[in-house]
Amino acid sequence: MFFPDAMLGMLGGGQLGRMFTLAAHSMGYRVAVLDPDSRSPAGAIADVHLKAAYQDREALQHLADTCVAVTTEFENVPADSLRRLAAHCTVRPTGDSVAVAQDRIREKRFLTENGFEVAPYIAIERAEDCDRIEAALLPGILKRARFGYDGKGQARVASVEEVRAAYVALGSEACVLEKRVSLACEVSVVAARGADGATRSFPVAENQHRDGILDVSIVPARVSAELAHRAEAAAQAVAVKLDYRGVLAVEFFVTTDGALLVNEIAPRPHNSGHYTIDACTTSQFEQQVRTLCGLPLGDTRLLSPVVMVNLLGDVWQGGQPAWDAVFGCPDAKLHLYGKHEARRGRKMGHYTVLGADADDALAKALAIRARLSPDFNLESA
Ligand code: ATP
Ligand code: MG
Repeated sequence: MFFPDAMLGMLGGGQLGRMFTLAAHSMGYRVAVLDPDSRSPAGAIADVHLKAAYQDREALQHLADTCVAVTTEFENVPADSLRRLAAHCTVRPTGDSVAVAQDRIREKRFLTENGFEVAPYIAIERAEDCDRIEAALLPGILKRARFGYDGKGQARVASVEEVRAAYVALGSEACVLEKRVSLACEVSVVAARGADGATRSFPVAENQHRDGILDVSIVPARVSAELAHRAEAAAQAVAVKLDYRGVLAVEFFVTTDGALLVNEIAPRPHNSGHYTIDACTTSQFEQQVRTLCGLPLGDTRLLSPVVMVNLLGDVWQGGQPAWDAVFGCPDAKLHLYGKHEARRGRKMGHYTVLGADADDALAKALAIRARLSPDFNLESA
């Protein structure tokens, strides 16, 4: 076990790295962040900010020499960097488990081979694979196998001809074509697996997306207890089958005919788990520190129903948001990530609102949103 004052390494300096750093600091650890961006949200508050590429040998060596353990905040960190670090210090999760989640084709094979249900799909690794597309897969979504996030690198397709065109438009790189399933809702589960193999999950979040980006998470999810239980069990089973150590998130589709399909695995804390900071005994970031340091897992119980709303750069387009809308609600908590440029679609922060039940929290969250910015349109949720 690693105890306070030890230096922990973080590959990636975005908001997830920042919230990890905040949790680590409050537990008495120091943090070194590797991120090439000189204005990275985590780098700004870390004890050490190494401004170098994720494959930079010198920077990796520095992390290996100064940190007792290293983790990551995003799945596109080169798996080889994690593998190289593992020769010198504790690395959780392993490069091998991150590599599965980095590639939608490997991920889907892993899931289906281990008995997890996914949306019907076909791997499109070369243009000729389009000849084998069955009609039942359309209309569908063509997704790049690697380096997609927030709905980027995806195209909606209704015919084989559209798949061919979209495959070229996405750079003729390996893709998966997924059938567009009929969604009753989307849920996710953040789970943790400790160094000793113990697993525990946080309560299920119900997620609403806008333009392919997470918009609102509602907890507890308004689904049956049976479905919630299945989702939590599946997320923990994914962690076990991956021989995972650390925090991961599993996103699910709940279809209108009641199936629970795994959408994807994120080998890190997740946007839909930010509610844990304000509404659970242990946050997903404290849990990440715990798993990294080999400490026992913290309790994951929900202390209050809660809703999280993402704040995208769009909210700033009409000037500074009307923050008094958040601060005026005693049950609301604002989290800003310290990003300098409020671009449309960029995650700048979030707020959470506690309530008597999920619907009450949602009503208060949406009332805040209505006042925050004239540009914050209210179609969803
Ligand atoms: P993120 O990084 O935000 O999770 P992503 O780029 O990994 O996004 P996906 O999770 O694959 O993208 O898809 C984003 C959203 O698009 C999903 O949450 C869902 O709302 C919708 N979506 C994706 N695939 C399907 C599908 N097969 N059927 C129906 N809806 C889908
Ligand atoms: Mg997703």
